Amino acid sequence: MTKDEVRRYLEFYQDLGLKTLYRRDSPGQPVLAPVPPQVTDLNPMPRNLKPAPPSPLVPSLAPVHDNLLKILEDIGDCKRCRLHEGRNRLVFGTGAEQARLVFVGEGPGADEDAQGLPFVGRAGQLLTQMIEGTAHKEGIPLQRSDVYICNVVKCRPPENRTPQPDEMEICGQFLFRQLLAIRPKAICALGSTAAKAILGTKEGVMRLRGKWQQWRDIPVIVTYHPSYLLRPYNQNAKKEAWEDLKKVLHYVYD
Ligand code: URA
Repeated sequence: MTKDEVRRYLEFYQDLGLKTLYRRDSPGQPVLAPVPPQVTDLNPMPRNLKPAPPSPLVPSLAPVHDNLLKILEDIGDCKRCRLHEGRNRLVFGTGAEQARLVFVGEGPGADEDAQGLPFVGRAGQLLTQMIEGTAHKEGIPLQRSDVYICNVVKCRPPENRTPQPDEMEICGQFLFRQLLAIRPKAICALGSTAAKAILGTKEGVMRLRGKWQQWRDIPVIVTYHPSYLLRPYNQNAKKEAWEDLKKVLHYVYD
């Protein structure tokens, strides 16, 4: 890890209010101070989840033997909604088809639109830091490339506005096909647009986060969108996002 990366990791955990970090190769040698107490999980994942009724946006059926390549081919040079008009590159998603955890954001921003990849701008850097930093701290050997990352809409909304309901519905069918093709052990919805698309709810992140939700038979954790966490006045939410991530990472990888 470079000096810069170390500084960013330390700043991230400092922002979360952690005063202590241990170095894994020297157990018992606190670098800063003592570890925070374990947070008790008040909403453990129920073992026998009943399949939830399909969300109104779920297509009745994905094609048989569906896979990510087929879905990408079906999207093609998409002009199904107005978002294609301002698009430079369509942003499908990245990560392994066998990923056990999928993160779903809202829609591409300027950097993502330029590169054709999800979460590569500032919010993306924070997301990478959150995934890898939290996993590392929890003793889970996980890199960003081990999870799958995509968005509700695949084309950048003008001025980064929130995607409109018809855009979410049209693009949602491809998101659901991606989720069905990957069949992850859990999904992490980043922000209220992802939560709305996946859970079909109008509830905000503050009410949904921290408790297990469900899409079909797949457990879902809703947490704050990294862009929200980048705003200086939302720093308290970072600690909650960290708790949400810990919860989903332990559920998937323990
Ligand atoms: N915000 C998102 O919701 N998705 C991205 O890919 C980048 C920023």
